Order: sequence, then structure tokens, then C-alpha cells
Amino acid sequence: MTRYFVPVLLTVALLGACSPPAPVVLTGDAFGTTWSVRLTGLPGDTNPEGLQLQIVVALDSIDRVMSNWRSDSAIEQFNAAPAGQWIDVPAELAELVTLARTISLASDGAFDITVAPLVRAWGFGPAAQPAVPDPATLNAARARTGFGHLSVRMNPPALRKAKPGITTDLSAIAKGYAVDRIAAVLDKAGCRSYLVEIGGELRARGQHPDGRAWRAAVRRPEYGLSPEPLTVLPVTDTAVATSGDYLQQFESGGRRYSHIIDPRTGRPAGHNLASVTVLATSAAEADALATALLVLGPVDGPALARAQDLKALFVLRKPDGFEQQESPALAAWLAAQP
Ligand code: ADP
Ligand code: MG
Repeated sequence: MTRYFVPVLLTVALLGACSPPAPVVLTGDAFGTTWSVRLTGLPGDTNPEGLQLQIVVALDSIDRVMSNWRSDSAIEQFNAAPAGQWIDVPAELAELVTLARTISLASDGAFDITVAPLVRAWGFGPAAQPAVPDPATLNAARARTGFGHLSVRMNPPALRKAKPGITTDLSAIAKGYAVDRIAAVLDKAGCRSYLVEIGGELRARGQHPDGRAWRAAVRRPEYGLSPEPLTVLPVTDTAVATSGDYLQQFESGGRRYSHIIDPRTGRPAGHNLASVTVLATSAAEADALATALLVLGPVDGPALARAQDLKALFVLRKPDGFEQQESPALAAWLAAQP
């Protein structure tokens, strides 16, 4: 069913259209958040209701494979499985774990999908109260993390944990992956111009009906929804994802702790880098890289972006407000936009 809506997004808000032809808007719920698709240039015989159905089916199948919130998902079956043996998984799960592993290696372990025991130890995640853990809890959680203890193969697709207690949590990459899957549905249907969004992760193709690029507003990295965006990025033919330390956090002893954990220390990333927005070809990659760069922080994050030619916007918290830093690749890309 098609319905029109006023978008209230988490990390990246979309800017509304001006006056020209309004895009068709499809929306729904998935992964505990909302999704939306804005479409123009639909082939004449395309039925938006049919597209909506295909998107819902695709999201549902991703949920059945990758959700950490249902015990019958492929990933939770693997998480419950014993160590030391290959467990068959759907090919798309093995592919996504392979991408996650590449980003773990590139980020020196800052991105790590085995991080869930640490996330839980700090009281983030299902049915928990955020709090600073005692050292014994923290050590026990650290013993159950490390992407080096997780192996993946493609023929046939399977995962294997080297130690009991190693699990996979795709929260920092799955929303992006789902955005890519929706984009694939739209590409296959012949759509030439669209903006797909799930919980703030975006992917755009072609142009807005006003003839300009689709636009993504990067939020001010503050708790609560501030109406004024920090900046606006043109997003034609690219994916965009933002990771911030500000949406889920708690305070204790005058310190702020965020839900993004540095697996190398076992502690929440704690520095003045408030958010990172990444542009990449795929939304899965953008999503994971945004988390990786946020964990790496204000020195190592920009250094990795420079070394790997990543398009990234770093937003730093300074005494007198926010400071924005573009990576060289992002600055060059923005300069080349019409
Ligand atoms: P959001 O979910 O707000 O879009 P992210 O994409 O950055 O933000 O994902 C954050 C989630 O990823 C956390 O809630 C946690 O489950 C998981 N996570 C936390 N730290 C890491 C990390 N270092 N590497 C990979 N996943 C992480
Ligand atoms: Mg992410």
C-alpha cells in the first residue's frame, strides 16, 4: 500500500521536494526502524503497489537470515551452534560476513561483528540498562569477542567459530545491506531515479524530480531531533551512511558512554568525534565504514580515510560548536558535483 508521510529520520534527514512533480513515496517498517523509497522516472507500466510488495518480501527475507532479534534467523542459529565446525548459512550471509571481515582488517579491528558480548556488558541491547560493567564482566565479555575467531567460506557458504561464545551481530552493516537489496529490486524493475532510506542509511540513483541531485541532510550530532541540518550533501548515484555516538548513550560519573564499542579496548569509543558520514558505492560498505571510522576516532579515522581514498565527513565536538572535516576524496567529489 502506498502512503504519503512526513519523514522523521534518525541520523540523516531527507530534504523535502520543492514544487516540481512529487516523487512516488513508498514506506514501511523494518528492523525496528522505518524505510522509505522515493521514486521518479518509473517505467510507464510499473505499478507502485507491486514494487512495495517486492520490497516487503526482500526485507522479510533479510530479516529471516540476519536478524539478531529472532531465534529462528540463520544468524542466531549460527550464534547458538557449537565451536569448531562449519555451519551452513545462506550465501548472502557469508558474503556480508566476508565484507565485514574486509572492513575489520582494513580498520585494524575497529569494526568487529563479534562485538555483541561487549555491547551487552555495557548494558546496550535487548532488555538491559546501560551501566559501567565491573572488571570481571568486562573480561568475560572480551574473551568472547574478536573477529579473528570467526571464519567464513563461500563454497559452500558457511561460518565457523574457533571458540565457544563467539557470535555475530550485523547491526552496524545490515541496514546498509538492506538498502542495497531494495536498490536492486528497483534497478531490476527499470527505475532510473530513486532515493532509498532505512533508519538514516541512504542510496540514491539519478536525480530528484526538480532536476537537481537528491540531497541528504547530515544532522547536528546532538541528542534529540534538531530541525536545522549541519550540512547538506548531494547524493546522486551513491550510498550514504552515518554513524554517531549521540543517539544511544548514557552518562555515569560525569562521562558519556556510547553504544559504539572499541573492540580493541572493550570500552565505548570515547573521544570528540561525534559522527562520521561515509559515501560509498554500496550502502553496506558505507554503513560499516561509518562505524569503523567513528571507532577509530579523530586521528586514526581521517588517516584511514586518506590512505584508502574514502569519502568521509568527520564531525568533531569542539567547545564552541561542531567542526566539519572532509576527507580529501570527499572534498574532491563535492568539488566535482554540478
Ligand atoms: P546505528 O545502528 O545507530 O545506525 P551503527 O551502524 O554504527 O549505528 O551500528 C551500531 C551498532 O553496531 C551497535 O548498536 C552495536 O550493536 C554494533 N557495534 C557496536 N560497536 C561496533 C563495532 N566496533 N563494530 C561493529 N559493530 C559494532
Ligand atoms: Mg554502521
